[in-house]
Amino acid sequence: MESFKYNSDLLFDAIYKGKVGLSNLPVNLYKKTAKFLNKAVTGPADELTKNLHYSIYIFSAAKTATQIADISSMADGVSLSEFKKRAAVRFHTYNVDWLESEFITANTAASTAANYKYTQDNKEIFPRLKSIAIIDQYTAPECYRMNNVIADVDDPIWNHNLAPRHFRCRCREERLDRYDSTNSTSTGKLRYIQAENDKEISPLFKFNPAKEQIIFSKKHPYYEIGKEHPTLAKQNWGLPIP
Ligand SMILES: [Zn+2]
Repeated sequence: MESFKYNSDLLFDAIYKGKVGLSNLPVNLYKKTAKFLNKAVTGPADELTKNLHYSIYIFSAAKTATQIADISSMADGVSLSEFKKRAAVRFHTYNVDWLESEFITANTAASTAANYKYTQDNKEIFPRLKSIAIIDQYTAPECYRMNNVIADVDDPIWNHNLAPRHFRCRCREERLDRYDSTNSTSTGKLRYIQAENDKEISPLFKFNPAKEQIIFSKKHPYYEIGKEHPTLAKQNWGLPIP
């Protein structure tokens, strides 16, 4: 993962002076975010990968709007130097800590999506998927339950239980070919895990990235701001999608 370089000092000046806001977002910050996250989205040159890249642009625009609104709200009643100090901390959270976690999540979602689609397209040869978790002290309970689960590619368990099931999820799926004689997980156990995991998994991860063709859920908090500004959100916040 390469580092994310951005001259935030100029941005903070512009926010403080009111030159940057929701109807005038920093295009370069948006473009850098999208470029950075799209590096995590690798896959074959097909329609799915294209749509996943597109979803990263939508996500990056919503992220830019959210952080600019958030940082702008810190400017009221404080000096420029004090504002810059506080803004720098918040900027770091968005563009270092969360960005890294978003990158890892995007990378897992993209490979899961490509793998699911390939298996689905070739299910005569690869009729089943096996879920693989890394088991250690950090394994989330929902992933622990899914470890070694084997089910048909069309089984409803894959609607909400493909990796990632949480931020920084390290799980994946493996496709099994039709000659593989390992037993499938029983239907009873599949439905039990599905019900338990439905209680555990955040709504942010309850979707199948191959079926919905998105990397991040539409329920992600970055999209909240679009509810207050539907016209701007509909126009991707005035930000270009190549
Ligand atoms: Zn996991």
